Amino acid sequence: MIYDAIIIGRGPAGLSCAIYTTRGNLKTLVIGKADSMLFKADKIENYYGFEHPISGKELFEIGEKQALRLGAEIVEDEVVSIEKTDNFKVICVNGEYEAKTVLLSTGAPVVRAPVKKLDRFEGNGVSYCTTCDGFFYRNKKVGVLGYTDYAVHEAMELMAFTNDITLYTNGMTLNISEKLKDSVSKLKINDTKIKELDGQEKIEWIVFEDGSRDSVQGLFVAYGSASSNSFAMKMGIETEGKSIKVNDKMETNIPGLYAAGDCTGVFKQIAVAVGQGALASRQMIEWVRKKR
Ligand SMILES: Cc1cc2nc3c(=O)[nH]c(=O)nc-3n(C[C@H](O)[C@H](O)[C@H](O)COP(=O)(O)OP(=O)(O)OC[C@H]3O[C@@H](n4cnc5c(N)ncnc54)[C@H](O)[C@@H]3O)c2cc1C
Repeated sequence: MIYDAIIIGRGPAGLSCAIYTTRGNLKTLVIGKADSMLFKADKIENYYGFEHPISGKELFEIGEKQALRLGAEIVEDEVVSIEKTDNFKVICVNGEYEAKTVLLSTGAPVVRAPVKKLDRFEGNGVSYCTTCDGFFYRNKKVGVLGYTDYAVHEAMELMAFTNDITLYTNGMTLNISEKLKDSVSKLKINDTKIKELDGQEKIEWIVFEDGSRDSVQGLFVAYGSASSNSFAMKMGIETEGKSIKVNDKMETNIPGLYAAGDCTGVFKQIAVAVGQGALASRQMIEWVRKKR
């Protein structure tokens, strides 16, 4: 089944967009983990329409109920990749979905992996995109830096090119869903805390805090959750710093793909996220009507 619209993110930007797209008669799927910056806000008193302060959690729940009542579907999942086909294929830990148009509303970009000299080797053996760079590492010894489903997904993508893959968790405990446990068994796991990366021109070594070191020819970073930056790097979405670049219609440089909320690097407030979600919805409705 092909959805008209898939919205990635269950925060104010995504749910606001879903409220408009469902009312605009688009078959809409919202995909998100059960979190949002809203959960960090104990008391909100600057959002229009609430005489008394409301907690972020309450606002999240009300927003979801409103979107559901209007006909949006919501699934709890983590998106690990988006592919541009005739439509958009959205790949999650637990399933795959297709839609004519997609909104990125994944919130503030994820912080960098805390590993020294990572930036020094970016483009020189350190990559953020298995789809773009996996091919260069055929039969080579590569690492994936990460400890979550996202990292395992990236490692599985690399399996098409090499079998010598180690998952470096940087001292973190593996946090993998049941569905991917079989996949993990195909990987080597190193859970030692990393001190730094080392090499001449290109990355050659991962140096650990216990004094040991591993040689690698490439290191793919998939640390924590996939965020708007990860999708940007895989799909060639233009960014400004870490934020997704949009115009005043919330269009990215990829036709049919829109972004709204904190991931666009705007004034990080609910009112702005909700407003951008609404603006994006208008373009998404137009886009789908033209495709019909
Ligand atoms: C402590 C604190 C207090 C705040 N107080 C206020 C306040 O008083 N007033 C105010 O206006 N604003 C406040 N804010 C800011 C406000 O919470 C944010 O601006 C707003 O939540 C942004 O909405 P968003 O939809 O862009 O992102 P978010 O609310 O962060 O939602 C992002 C969504 O994307 C999902 N997601 C991310 N990655 C993936 C993935 N790979 N796959 C699937 N889903 C994914 C997340 O699970 C989440 O559902 C506060 C923020 C903080 C941290």
